[in-house]
Amino acid sequence: PSTASELTDFGVRHVGKGVSRLTNGVMASAKGSYVTFEDGRKMLDFTTGIGVTGLGHCHPKVSQAAADQCLTLVHGQCSVAFSTPYLRLIERLMPVMPDPSLDTFMFLNSGSEATEAALKLARHATGRQNVIVMQGGYHGRTYGAVAMSKSKTIYSEGFLPLMPGVFSTAFPYWHQLGLPPNASEEVLVQQSLIQLEHLLQQQTAPTDTAAIIVEPVLGEGGYVPAPKAFLEGLRAVCDKHGIILIFDEVQSGFGRTGKYFSCEYSGVRPDVMVMAKGLANGFPLSGIVSRKELMDKQKPGTMGGTYCGNPVALAAARACADVMAEEKILENVNARSKELFTFLDKLRQDPKYSSVIVDVRGRGLMVAAEFAAPTYPAHDPAANASAPKGIAARLTARCVDKGLLLLATSIFQTVRFIPPLNISQEDLAKGMKIFEEALAEVVH
Ligand code: PMP
Repeated sequence: PSTASELTDFGVRHVGKGVSRLTNGVMASAKGSYVTFEDGRKMLDFTTGIGVTGLGHCHPKVSQAAADQCLTLVHGQCSVAFSTPYLRLIERLMPVMPDPSLDTFMFLNSGSEATEAALKLARHATGRQNVIVMQGGYHGRTYGAVAMSKSKTIYSEGFLPLMPGVFSTAFPYWHQLGLPPNASEEVLVQQSLIQLEHLLQQQTAPTDTAAIIVEPVLGEGGYVPAPKAFLEGLRAVCDKHGIILIFDEVQSGFGRTGKYFSCEYSGVRPDVMVMAKGLANGFPLSGIVSRKELMDKQKPGTMGGTYCGNPVALAAARACADVMAEEKILENVNARSKELFTFLDKLRQDPKYSSVIVDVRGRGLMVAAEFAAPTYPAHDPAANASAPKGIAARLTARCVDKGLLLLATSIFQTVRFIPPLNISQEDLAKGMKIFEEALAEVVH
């Protein structure tokens, strides 16, 4: 293949069908907030590769740190010895942890691996088996992680049996509770906590329950921030019963929501926190962190893997932490966030769209606009398959045609905005303009 379209045809023929794509274009290079395709198109990136390249593509300081590390130590196998970048990253991350009790780390390669590692830690530490997950939660596609994911059946359909011992309970998102979009936060929290209480009484006894895992901002399931009272409720249940509370900050961490970690909005401390994505701005790196006493219970050799804690990714992550501080990334997130919310709230109030946009929500630059779905997602496969082709999919497709990479979430008609955390005011405005034009074309 030589031309851009020949490359696309080659990809369509030879890349496994199980991987889906927003577009069949071929990314050739990327810099900052833009991705350049083989056909010459330069696209503004409001996906950041699903919330990963928060510091922009190929941030010079991060790429330089990785390049330097490539010439110093590439494979510092974690079961052979410590490596300098491993320890230097821990040193750099400790001060930004949401609670000083989170002082013991372990690095892995992907979010899925890390959520499974967190569960292994909880099962081993408690001697219990079951895990409670949230309806709409997403923790990855490997077997254990997919068992804990409840955002779409496509991840599990045809892959059964999954890991046993997983119980799900409502996240305080109106869809999960069969409530209207204007349901009050108080009712949502109360109903969710009642469901959890019933689950512990009817299906998984506290003494069999190792962990509760929750995204403090529900990600793939709809970009819904967990109210403070809900996380406080979970903390209280976990404290009462000796259950490990795991926060999955894979998508919501590292400044995405305007604080270093989104759980800081609640002040609730997890026992274990899962990190990935923004941690290394595109280099495959994830991690778990907990208090020392939990990790110290593990037997040496039970965790890890050939590539876990790759020095190049670790060096990049350390540079990311430097950039976060040097470039005052959180300040930019909060300034741009206000502009994005103002824009979306205005659209929502516009009589042309007020019956179409049912919700605007999120935190920082993890923001969603939810559209009215013509029908509630049905249980029959044919209707389910066509549901995502609703307004959100049409809208994101129009945006792509117009030069803006934008994604939808899960089964509901929700479009998510995850631009770079250091996006300029001009580029954010440019993306919002494209979105507004696409919306006008899709909603008549
Ligand atoms: N947890 C959350 C909250 C996520 O958003 C994701 C990925 N979207 C994962 C876990 C899985 O991460 P990975 O794709 O790196 O396995």
